[in-house]
Amino acid sequence: MSERQKANAVLASLVRGDFSELADRFAQAGFTVHLPEPGILHIHAAPESVPRRRLLLSVGIHGDETAPIEITAQLLAQLAADPQGLRVDLLLVVGNLAAIEQGKRYLEADLNRQFEPDHLPAADSAEARRADAIMRATRQFFSSPEGQRWHLDLHTAIRSSFYPSFAIVPVQVEGAARQQLLDWLAAAGTGAAVLSPNSSGTYSAYTAINFNAVSCTAELGRVAQLGENDLAPFAAAQAALLALLTGSSIVPGTPPLLFAVAQELVKRSEGFKLAFAGNVGNFTAMPQGALIAQDGAQDHRVAAVTEYVLFPNAGVAIGQRAALMVVRCT
Ligand SMILES: [Zn+2]
Repeated sequence: MSERQKANAVLASLVRGDFSELADRFAQAGFTVHLPEPGILHIHAAPESVPRRRLLLSVGIHGDETAPIEITAQLLAQLAADPQGLRVDLLLVVGNLAAIEQGKRYLEADLNRQFEPDHLPAADSAEARRADAIMRATRQFFSSPEGQRWHLDLHTAIRSSFYPSFAIVPVQVEGAARQQLLDWLAAAGTGAAVLSPNSSGTYSAYTAINFNAVSCTAELGRVAQLGENDLAPFAAAQAALLALLTGSSIVPGTPPLLFAVAQELVKRSEGFKLAFAGNVGNFTAMPQGALIAQDGAQDHRVAAVTEYVLFPNAGVAIGQRAALMVVRCT
């Protein structure tokens, strides 16, 4: 089989959430392998070896964000050919299998809002149950105190972006750990990093808050159909991921620009309307005083000299975030 055929075979098994072949490959090479849930693979070195970094790699938390699934398939195919090259304890999570199968972002509720103990207000959704299963496996993976914990939750954005590749970094990731993460993001070709104080029920906030993980949500380029992604723009991210998996040094890159959250617009009524075209790109600059949105009788306006709009979406459920406004840190 050619490299491409091997990667395609791994991709097919990833999308099905079936890791049995990969598990066999690593088990034969002397690793301990667990398959705690469909779509979740845990590979770690034999217990006598020195503690290694623990890396949680999650993809497909949104079912239509397929490029990271393809990248991960290629990386796993590469590692399966040389299992000893894997130098971290790895938990791989393919998030929303049911949504991936249907090519949808989610089925009943946004999975990346469910990483809270009580999942309100979508407590009986398929996604809340999946989040429970993922959180169980995550707790298990991060339970031992040894080794540094990393979590990269890989996404692709729905809309165009001034910075094609950017990251949301929970503010809980601080100090030297934040610098390490920013260095990695630089190597991965990330143009901007937004320091986010609110969990919003996201997976990366869950691991930062509960396990002190060096974590982020990385938005790598645009949404496309599975198998139709042009992976060339992701080459830097793929190389940086491979370096992390194999314990090699990263190629230094331009540090991402830092942003802080200025305001979070929560949709309060069905009358919520954005004041600009629905297809406006992420990180579009808006001047002080400009109208961002109207929500019933309430006007939301830009307060700082310049704010940049992120993730505008008037179609979210009431009570959820309809846009994030950010400002440059420096
Ligand atoms: Zn996403």
